[in-house]
Amino acid sequence: MYKSVIIGTGPAGLTAAIYLARANLNPLVIEGPEPGGQLTTTTEVENFPGFPEGIMGPELMANMRKQAERFGAQFRSGWINSVDLSKRPFTLSLEGGETLQAETLIISTGASAKYLGIPGEKDNVGRGVSTCATCDGFFFRGKKIIVVGGGDSAMEEANFLTRFASELTLVHRRDELRASKIMQDRARENPKISWSLNRTPLEVLSGENGVTGLKVRNNETGEEEIIEAQGVFVAIGHTPNTKFLGGQVETDEHGYIITKPGSSETNVPGVFACGDVQDNKYRQAITAAGSGCMAALDCEKFLEGAVTQDWSVSLG
Ligand code: NAP
Repeated sequence: MYKSVIIGTGPAGLTAAIYLARANLNPLVIEGPEPGGQLTTTTEVENFPGFPEGIMGPELMANMRKQAERFGAQFRSGWINSVDLSKRPFTLSLEGGETLQAETLIISTGASAKYLGIPGEKDNVGRGVSTCATCDGFFFRGKKIIVVGGGDSAMEEANFLTRFASELTLVHRRDELRASKIMQDRARENPKISWSLNRTPLEVLSGENGVTGLKVRNNETGEEEIIEAQGVFVAIGHTPNTKFLGGQVETDEHGYIITKPGSSETNVPGVFACGDVQDNKYRQAITAAGSGCMAALDCEKFLEGAVTQDWSVSLG
């Protein structure tokens, strides 16, 4: 039986672990299939405060983990199949049949960027393929960039990336965009963006120095085309990792956990959420870390019995 179990080891989960461990609450941190979260798939992180020269994503995460361990947080790897949140202590069922009991739960399982699933894509993550314009755009100053996707994220990333790109091509698999009108208009008014609509991405092409282009099928003619670029930004959405909750924690229509505004409380007393699993908007390491701190403080207060979570009633 644990006072607190934290699920997920991105910046949110590890920050929560540092705070809870430092408050002598001996949290157990469960590390899933992507230890360290999305930052371990990027190279240099230049916008995390405190590192004027930047820091490599994996190193930043390793440091946060060490810091949590230093104060006594315990770590274990595991995949949680399901949870029972109907009564406290909560029960977590791990793959392999083991169960754990926890007084409180902090969910920091993040959101996984969707990939196209085409050849050359995963091999070139960090070598020209990215799913985060804010993180990696800077590295493509003066380079040709492709953004794939037709939703608001693709429009936003494309507009942002024109600050760096010498040329930017937006590739979308249909003729029609899914993005809201205002985001489409903004992108269409941007003279640096050219449009390759009705093109299905087939393969990310690369050489010794990284990405060289994207092979696409022109869906009108059926012909294959190659669009040259050094950067391919995949912006086809994210999936919040909330399936294992089996609908017991309130989420929005996209599966993101709903937290009480200005706090990390969910609709289930004793269950807190932080990081990208509850943030479809900012999605930054620093905002995730900040929300992890909030979750630890909320959790600590809850364990002290100082908080009654009756706000869910007002959610309707
Ligand atoms: P989204 O709206 O689901 O759009 C995903 C896009 O990727 C769609 O155009 C889709 O094509 C395409 N796509 C999906 N799978 C693909 C595949 N395998 N191959 C090629 N293309 C693929 O996702 P999103 O743009 O990330 O937005 C998610 C939510 O966040 C939305 O509600 C959005 O409004 C919101 N958001 C808002 C803002 C803002 O207002 N500032 C910014 C970002 C996101 P199809 O259209 O053909 O399905």
